[in-house]
Amino acid sequence: MDFFGYFGKILVVNLSTKECKEVPIPEDVYRKFLGGYGLGAYYIYNNMEPNCDPMGPKNILGFCPGLLTGSPAPLTGRYVVCAKSPLTGKGIRSNGNVSSGGWGNANSGGTFGPVIKKTGFDAIFFEGKADNPVYLLIDKKNIEIREANFLWGKDIIETEKKLKELHGSQFNIAAIGKAGENLSLIAGIVNDKGRIAARSGMGAVMGSKNLKALCLYGTEKIKYYNKEILLSNTKEYLKMIKKNSKKGLITKMIPVLDRFVPLMRIMGMGMGLDSPLMPKILTQMFGPSGLGTTSANVLSSQIGDTPIKNLKGVGFKDFPYKNAMNIRGKALRKHMKKKYGCFSCPIQCGAILEYEDLPYEEKTTHRPEYETSAAFGSLILNDNLDVIIKVNEYLNREGMDSISAGMTVAFVLECCENGILNKGDFKCEEYPDGFLPKWGESDYILPLVKLMVSREGIGDKLADGTKIAAEKISNSKQFAMNVNGQEIPMHDARMDPNLGLTYITDPTPARHTAASLNFEMGISGKYFMPEVKFIFPDAPYQQGLAQAIVAKFHQIIEGLGFCLFAVYFGKYPLLEILNALTGWDVDIDELFSIGHRIQTLRQMFNAREGAIRHEIPDRAVGNPPLSKGPLKGVKIVLEPLIAGYYNGMGFLNNGVPSEEILNKLGLDFCLKDLKEATGDSSYINRSLESIDEDYNPNPKIVPLKGG
Ligand code: SF4
Repeated sequence: MDFFGYFGKILVVNLSTKECKEVPIPEDVYRKFLGGYGLGAYYIYNNMEPNCDPMGPKNILGFCPGLLTGSPAPLTGRYVVCAKSPLTGKGIRSNGNVSSGGWGNANSGGTFGPVIKKTGFDAIFFEGKADNPVYLLIDKKNIEIREANFLWGKDIIETEKKLKELHGSQFNIAAIGKAGENLSLIAGIVNDKGRIAARSGMGAVMGSKNLKALCLYGTEKIKYYNKEILLSNTKEYLKMIKKNSKKGLITKMIPVLDRFVPLMRIMGMGMGLDSPLMPKILTQMFGPSGLGTTSANVLSSQIGDTPIKNLKGVGFKDFPYKNAMNIRGKALRKHMKKKYGCFSCPIQCGAILEYEDLPYEEKTTHRPEYETSAAFGSLILNDNLDVIIKVNEYLNREGMDSISAGMTVAFVLECCENGILNKGDFKCEEYPDGFLPKWGESDYILPLVKLMVSREGIGDKLADGTKIAAEKISNSKQFAMNVNGQEIPMHDARMDPNLGLTYITDPTPARHTAASLNFEMGISGKYFMPEVKFIFPDAPYQQGLAQAIVAKFHQIIEGLGFCLFAVYFGKYPLLEILNALTGWDVDIDELFSIGHRIQTLRQMFNAREGAIRHEIPDRAVGNPPLSKGPLKGVKIVLEPLIAGYYNGMGFLNNGVPSEEILNKLGLDFCLKDLKEATGDSSYINRSLESIDEDYNPNPKIVPLKGG
């Protein structure tokens, strides 16, 4: 049978038995779940034993490129790593049983996603556990599991170098560093020397399987159903990007914007304008300006977007404008050697820096993105750019999530400030008598992060993120800024309550890259598919309903392998490209049903594991509110948002998908698990009417297309 756009098979590697088998996947699975974590959730849900130990051999780890990944479709070069997460969703179930973890996925760019496709498989899954360190080698048709003792202990750059020396420079590598080897629950998986699938603890799962690396080289080609239509639509889109990338006044204005930040803060201005010019502005900002995501470093820190001082601070007061300017995008751009982009991306928002002070033989490094600049900058009041660049490179080399690592450092700072941790707790080779981390100082940062990666001394308590650290360090729980186990990213929910909703209800909690009404659609996303009407209601319950629409849409983006920024750059011929590639005749309604199905399956995974949780720190929702700054007095109430979202998704009040919605979406294979499934109604079982007068259980808003 001919397949178009995909190969109709996956590779399943059993690390215990060393068996590698090709598994055919029926065509309708692709049409129902696409690729990426849609395919991943389908395979893992149906093949993983429920309630297994996420760090044990029964967990399944998938490397899943998007359905469009590897095709000429622009901005679709991403892949997702997925498995049961050892980091999130843990806790006591409402039936008294203990949940050992929930659904986990982490997304990465670069070139590795298309390389998986080149091997002729739509995804690679690992089961079991190797007795000793191993790596997977695919050299065209030859598939082998090889011993990796010689790689264990090496960082990502050294690992890649060794494997390329051994097998050739045509191979592409994804690997774990010391963080994954040491089973840190905030470890990620790194490809292209610095693109990291960072979140959900996927590097820990890989480490638990004794799997050091994937080393791949393939020459298989996907077939296109209608090459002419596919290429003409691609060409048209690229033409639009080229036009919007043409340098002019906007290109010149963007780097200058930082100068106006104090004024923007006083005027209460936010991140975006409601203007059809936004796709062009954002194209310029991410692309030609050469600033990429770091264009937000100063603005976000001053307007209440970046969490400051472990979420208890105020940007302009605790990390004033002059400090923020020391870590601005332009300061990083000074070191830029060349721009960098993922496969099939015309924007190229990344950059490779040349930095002589790096303590390694190689003097080039990936530029820290906004999230890392903020997590090791404004969040901990550090304005030392040199340290941010070095920490970024170190964490990339050792494969640790910089968001969770930065948040854990912020947690430590508050513990020290309150005398819970002291100088003697931080002894290491460099500081035999210890050191005392303090807000605004930078010397301690690298030594502390190194302790975490190596699990030395206090590092052992901190290596698994703030939730577990707070269980090991007395009286520190109020400083642990995580949602359901995962550290809050660098966007404050008090500024955007829809993000708070996402942080608490998405199957992977605390993710700015999961669906959020304002964050995803509010800036420029509504131009991406203008035929879809996104609604921005004022009342929280209706916003929750609207967010359900965005959540369905978001799963499509993930399943197809899009970069999440793609929605910012203007109209995309998505249906034309998808149908030309696959030969399908998918329309908007079917597309949204697919998105709904993927999100519901991920949610059902958590329901089956008893991993639906609503645990968000009081501070993160403004309880008590800040007394100064852009977030002064803000206390967000998530209950009506959650209720609206669950209603819009067809989930019960406790978050468990209803039998009706499972039937409607063709997820009947989940029905057998409904009886045992448990949710968490702790957050929304309070009286909604008394919480918010806008609450309306019978909303008038009925989404049109795509609802
Ligand atoms: S916009 Fe940036 S992150 Fe997205 S695909 Fe392009 S280079 Fe990668």
